[in-house]
Amino acid sequence: MDYKEHIEIINDYPVKGVQFKDITPLMQNGEVYQQAIDEMAEYVKLKHVDVIAAPEARGFVVGCPIAYTLNKSFVPVRKSGKLPRMVVETNYGLEYGKASLAIHKDAINPGDRVLITDDLLATGGTIEATIQLVEELGGEVVGCAFLIELAYLDHGEKLKNYDVYSLMTYD
Ligand code: IMP
Repeated sequence: MDYKEHIEIINDYPVKGVQFKDITPLMQNGEVYQQAIDEMAEYVKLKHVDVIAAPEARGFVVGCPIAYTLNKSFVPVRKSGKLPRMVVETNYGLEYGKASLAIHKDAINPGDRVLITDDLLATGGTIEATIQLVEELGGEVVGCAFLIELAYLDHGEKLKNYDVYSLMTYD
């Protein structure tokens, strides 16, 4: 399956110079969406995970159906102020400005094998922040899975100690 046929590239969105990868055409095709999730789930299955964690919002598009397929726990990682109970939080840098993410304190038990998913790996800031939260709660990050990896952006040393899987790579 050539999944890239179902990714639309939009130039200069959301700001000039960025080539935005739009995954919504892939999601709009039920057969292709299902096949992409099934293929990612094959990788996740090999990791014998307890928990799948994903940052909002597009991470849910990938993480929830993988968790459902494998009958595993799903943990949402949300922007600060969105989760109702006790959380741990972290601030991280974006291309422009700052953001923060939070996770429920009781979402992960020490020693849990955690797989982190998101739609897209760009600079790695979002996934690094998610890893930090999971590890703060004692989870073991056994892998990170993406629909898309932008290899032309340098995520540098951030993920060098982690197993990374990407369904599509753009060089
Ligand atoms: P990073 O933190 O720089 O790795 O950016 C990854 C986050 O930004 C992910 O949660 C993506 O949803 C979002 N993102 C960045 N670039 C794109 C894109 O081209 N298409 C869709 N999402 C993107």
